[in-house]
Amino acid sequence: MANKKPYSFSASVNKMVDQAFKILDIDPGVASAIKSCDAVLQVRFPVTIKGKIEVFTGWRATHSIHRLPVKGGIRYAPIVNQDEIEALASLMTYKCAIVDVPFGGSKGGLIIDPRKYTRDELRMITRRFARELVRKGFLSPATNVPAPDVGTGEREMAWIMDTYKHLHPEDINYQGCVTGKPVHHGGISGRTEATGRGVVYALREFFRHPPDMEMAGLTGGLGDKHIVIQGLGNVGYHAAKLLQEEDNARIIAIIERDGVLVNDAGISIDRVHQYMCEHDGCVKGFPDAIYDEDGKKALEMDCDILIPAALENVITVGNAERVQAKLICEAANGPVTFEADEILRKRGITILPDAYANAGGVTVSYFEWIRNLSHIRFGRMERRYDEMRGRHVINAIESLNGREVSDWLEAQIVRGADELDLVRSGLDDTMRLAYQQISEAKASNKNILDFRTAAYVVAVSKISRSYLDIGAY
Ligand code: NAD
Repeated sequence: MANKKPYSFSASVNKMVDQAFKILDIDPGVASAIKSCDAVLQVRFPVTIKGKIEVFTGWRATHSIHRLPVKGGIRYAPIVNQDEIEALASLMTYKCAIVDVPFGGSKGGLIIDPRKYTRDELRMITRRFARELVRKGFLSPATNVPAPDVGTGEREMAWIMDTYKHLHPEDINYQGCVTGKPVHHGGISGRTEATGRGVVYALREFFRHPPDMEMAGLTGGLGDKHIVIQGLGNVGYHAAKLLQEEDNARIIAIIERDGVLVNDAGISIDRVHQYMCEHDGCVKGFPDAIYDEDGKKALEMDCDILIPAALENVITVGNAERVQAKLICEAANGPVTFEADEILRKRGITILPDAYANAGGVTVSYFEWIRNLSHIRFGRMERRYDEMRGRHVINAIESLNGREVSDWLEAQIVRGADELDLVRSGLDDTMRLAYQQISEAKASNKNILDFRTAAYVVAVSKISRSYLDIGAY
């Protein structure tokens, strides 16, 4: 096994999905129609940087157009390639189906190390990339809507939106051409934290299912669990912070690109994050934890939950036999290869798969897109009205009882929901319902041995039904 050439990222995803096609007994032709990537655009464009012309290469893949727009992040990284972008686009198709977000899957990437460029240079490069995507029909609110991913954030999304707006000033829905924007430019409260928060909602729902916990060999609640996290970027930071601050879980190791910090008593996420901001993204030298430059080795640490939240292909045939976590929650896309997945399953390690666990980002992106099309902030019409009704309820209770309601209870009843409350509520509901569908699918068929296959069974049933309904073949 160790000497066999490993599957590419896209082949690895396809092999995993094949298990679901087999279980559902889907016609091979339909299966290959669903698996194949609809279109891939490759662009090469020159930008003058510090007086010299540099040529950049990027991709945007649309995996499935059974629903429009297609949706998926744009990543900036030094080692992006077409296979990776196609794999990530296909994951988006399954992810959207799992959480009932009515989009097809897409993904984009640019070969660049963003840390080597100034803000102004990145702005020029991003605007140029966006122009290429618009001109070639791979960016618009109706057809293809990017979002942040590795190496990009709300700043890049604002630049992309502005570029689209200038090319299509007549499009009244221009803000919906991209999600993950700053809130004052049509973004939605709670989008930045959404993927990490969704990971935590997924874990909380897992811990509400005793049979699933038992299968993983876990007892108790999230609060007494020891957690190792890889990557303290957008997804990892918000997931770890919430787990520590709201669930009282203990983060015993943080693996970053320059090494790992370990402390069995727990590590303050906010302090490490602050330290990284002051030390060029590095963790070496952080006080109150032991540092080791071999970060990869820490994936094999003894812990209850391992959360890979950095990149793909980190658990492979090379280390899967030594992973000691009872539960792996895939916050990153594709952290476990197909071969490693088989080893982990045989070893009884439970995995909450990427296509479900990190779907919080696209879920809140969906809310943002709806907000952009409706041109109104969620809660704007009803918040004060709800508060007024709450006040009437308090008055009624007090006049019937002849006693005053406590200040705390009054505040709870009177408060109308703002946009952030509604977004978090919608995200929590989405993650819970999706988990329940996956868990039920798994329990109802003895051939489904793990959550990944169950998640793909849920996704493929919905997608194949949709293909059939629209007469796609
Ligand atoms: P990010 O760029 O904000 O963070 C990535 C983090 O990983 C950084 O802190 C980086 O230093 C660290 N890292 C890089 N190489 C590493 C290594 N070899 N070992 C340990 N750490 C390393 O990216 P992100 O947006 O947080 O995305 C992380 C993962 O989550 C990716 O797989 C991405 O596709 C996935 N994801 C992101 C979103 C989103 O909304 N941003 C949504 C769904 C899935």
